[in-house]
Amino acid sequence: MPTDPAGLLTVDLGAIADNWRSLRARHGADVAGVVKADAYGLGAAPVGRALRDAGCRHFFVAHLAEGMALRSAVGPGPMIAVLNGFRPEEDGDADLTPVLNTPQDVAAWGAAEIPAQGPHDAILHIDTGMNRLGLSAKETAALAEDPSPLRRLLLRFVMTHLACADDPWHRLNAAQATRFAAARRRLPEAPASLANSSGIFLGPGFASDLARPGCALYGINPTPGRPNPMQQVVTLEAPVLQVRDVPPGMPVGYGASWVAYRPSRIATVAAGYADGYLRALSGRAVARHRGRDVPLAGRVSMDLTTFDVTDHPEIGIGSSITLIGPGLTPDDLAARAGTIGYEILTSLGARYRRAYLPAP
Ligand SMILES: *Cc1c(COP(=O)(O)O)cnc(C)c1O
Repeated sequence: MPTDPAGLLTVDLGAIADNWRSLRARHGADVAGVVKADAYGLGAAPVGRALRDAGCRHFFVAHLAEGMALRSAVGPGPMIAVLNGFRPEEDGDADLTPVLNTPQDVAAWGAAEIPAQGPHDAILHIDTGMNRLGLSAKETAALAEDPSPLRRLLLRFVMTHLACADDPWHRLNAAQATRFAAARRRLPEAPASLANSSGIFLGPGFASDLARPGCALYGINPTPGRPNPMQQVVTLEAPVLQVRDVPPGMPVGYGASWVAYRPSRIATVAAGYADGYLRALSGRAVARHRGRDVPLAGRVSMDLTTFDVTDHPEIGIGSSITLIGPGLTPDDLAARAGTIGYEILTSLGARYRRAYLPAP
């Protein structure tokens, strides 16, 4: 037993690999692994290696530094694309693939020296309605008029990103797919990359040569409002440091926002908002113990959170309470905090001990 108990974050790499395989089967075409932001907080190196071993040949990160670290983890071979882009020669010998988001990116890469081993590869990102990154309709038309900068590059994919894929009824989905198809017809021929996790579930009109799922790999429901087709990946358990009896009328925690209404037992666990257990969960969340809910009592503080364990006499010092796990998904917790599962995962703190269950 460690002398300084901290929460235990368990990441099931086998479940991630299974999720990747099931997304590929549903997409009916190739599927990448989006491992930006340290694989949504779960660890880009172990997650990248597990996906590589499952057969994943294309990765997406957001930043150059993430790409370099991932290359060291997965070794040569798989494509590693940097969504936010980078300048020619910046990747050293890491063999990263830039996503070209602006006419300036296209010009810079089109003018770059062609390496001895052949043209540098690149992904062209065109915007079809998200208005975040990527060439606008006008810029895309100009490039279609004069595609000469692209001739000096190996265009691996033309990609776009869906803004509303998690809402299958949103009109923007079909509009984006139509604009994407029209733009591709005018641009030099290259494979297409369209769907994110939710896009894979929008149906055959959203299939492409390479889908780019992130959240669904990590167990977040890509079909909100419908049953989650993905396996749960994350378990987070926090140890109980102290249990105290609190008589009726006595408060618990900062702001005295929770007051005992009956003779109560309060358990204090070693996880707080500095660990990504969001303060917005104060007074709203539940944890789990032996298959039953344990209500949060009062405010989440920086390093500690208090739970009402009056109905759980089995809980004592050294017990561990499940903050995320069976019966309590990242999406459940997110709903209680008024956010999305993505933010729950990417906020998971650095102080937890981490255990990786290997893929079988
Ligand atoms: C983050 C991201 C993805 C993955 O999105 P999910 O909703 O997590 O599947 C795909 N494409 C782009 C451009 C992204 O930024």
